[in-house]
Amino acid sequence: MKRVYMDANATTPLLPEVLEAMRPYWMECFGNASSIHLDGQQAHSAVDRARATLAEFFNCHDAEVVFNSGGTEGDNTAIFGLLRPGDHFVTTSIEHSAILAAAERMAAFGVETTFVAPTASGLIDPAAIERALRPETRLISVMLANNETGVLQPVEEIGKIAAAAGAFFHIDAVQGAGKVPLDVRRFGCHLLNISAHKMYGPKGVGAIFVRRGTPLESLIVGGSHERRRRAGTENVPGIVGLAKAAELAMHSLEDGTMDRLARLRDRLEAGILALPGTGVNGAHSSGCHPERVQRVEGPASSFSSNHSGAPGPSHLGRWESTNFVPRVANTTNIWFDNLEGEALVIALDLKGVAVSGGSACHSGATEPSHVLMAMGLDKTRARASLRFSLLKTATAADVEYALQVVPEAVEHLRMISPVAAGTAG
Ligand code: PLP
Repeated sequence: MKRVYMDANATTPLLPEVLEAMRPYWMECFGNASSIHLDGQQAHSAVDRARATLAEFFNCHDAEVVFNSGGTEGDNTAIFGLLRPGDHFVTTSIEHSAILAAAERMAAFGVETTFVAPTASGLIDPAAIERALRPETRLISVMLANNETGVLQPVEEIGKIAAAAGAFFHIDAVQGAGKVPLDVRRFGCHLLNISAHKMYGPKGVGAIFVRRGTPLESLIVGGSHERRRRAGTENVPGIVGLAKAAELAMHSLEDGTMDRLARLRDRLEAGILALPGTGVNGAHSSGCHPERVQRVEGPASSFSSNHSGAPGPSHLGRWESTNFVPRVANTTNIWFDNLEGEALVIALDLKGVAVSGGSACHSGATEPSHVLMAMGLDKTRARASLRFSLLKTATAADVEYALQVVPEAVEHLRMISPVAAGTAG
């Protein structure tokens, strides 16, 4: 059976070039980057070259790049490394659990957190961040792109607000990296972290930009690796793989890949929205027909309009008034009336299409997505929402296959669904 993977926001496969770049560092060049002999120096040089690539990717100095184990560690580092008892922390209610759970833990240490809610379309209003500030606010953390809706947040505006308030600013760029250009200077952030496995690199490795002079305490202590900012023997093959993935991502951002991907996503979205009782979460308000969005901003959708000089985050008001919000090119999150999202995920999987649902398993119970709930969806609609996130290697044939399979599965489930029959609890 054909398999179409549309869950790129969960993880991505390695690109072949990434595997090739990593290959020598498992066996031939296996040295410890801290050793002074030739084997160690070969590994050290590979890490240095990778650091230079990441510095280009972030637009920062080499010395501002710290390698780590991925997105969760980067998010935890920002919070545990900067906040102290008595500090106030501002973040949003749509962050990844790596931020939310860390904030929860800090409450026990006397750090109070304000969780700013998004608008109905999934955007964080910079004015709401500003209103949440207090004299003792030490850190603001806002994600670049939401993992569930793909909505891009106005980080540049928030960076200016942080600077004016004298607060540190952290960006979780795990879902934005490789999908939109990163520029830590333009964003005005002190910290920004990424994860290799979300951008066609290996799992268990990532990096965090730490602006020079930021008083960040190391989360992991031990040796003096990474200029004492992250102890532990460097994962040399992983770091080399991350750098290769970043290099390829920089090409993809310039060679039209994102426009192509946005067109495929738009085709998929329009095809699914042709079904009755469906709508997009986080693109335009529910019930709004997609053609209305296209008429306003042009067909290539969020990415191209965001990077062609057309309205960007500083035109938030206009987006809101036209029901248009910027999204990464590969993601759409769609609700389906009268069915259970989880049942649809399973039905699609059985037909070869891998997607994610709008709920997550927490301690054995299926809870509706905190992101969709924060956007104001009710539990039933949040549970009946699916995320389609395309790989950058997706083809038109993949989309056509999904468009063949999704309507059949939706119709079938609606026919047998207790939700549709009104008998669900
Ligand atoms: N932040 C965001 C926005 C994510 O989507 C994820 C993973 O889904 C993470 C952080 C955690 O990254 P990792 O899987 O590398 O720990």
